[in-house]
Amino acid sequence: MTARIITGGDIDSYCTRCKLNLEHIILAMVGGAVVKVQCKTCGSIHRFKGMPAVRPKSPRKEGAASKSFVTCQALWEEAMGEAKGPELPYDMARSYQAGDVMVHNIFGKGVVQKTLFKKCAVLFKDKERMLVTSNT
Ligand SMILES: [Zn+2]
Repeated sequence: MTARIITGGDIDSYCTRCKLNLEHIILAMVGGAVVKVQCKTCGSIHRFKGMPAVRPKSPRKEGAASKSFVTCQALWEEAMGEAKGPELPYDMARSYQAGDVMVHNIFGKGVVQKTLFKKCAVLFKDKERMLVTSNT
């Protein structure tokens, strides 16, 4: 398409009301740039939007999240396979050792990764969590 861009001419623009790229009539131009258009479909007048900007951010974010989830689950499976400790119910009044299998009533089974003062890092199927314990 080599249609001339002039006031009164046609241009494809994103219509904020139709939420689609549609043919618009150019109503106003400033310095060769289209500033105001009218949607031929709904008749609404709005600023020229052009094509909606491509936003690769969110798909990339989702991809990263699912990837880290898979990685974490794989780590968890490996840790569960290696854990030799008894299965201990989670109790904040108790202390744990690295390698213990902790059974949490919300997060399920996890493997204690390391212990810190009054808490320990436990790898659960979905992610690692810090839980309050009575470790010293
Ligand atoms: Zn429209």
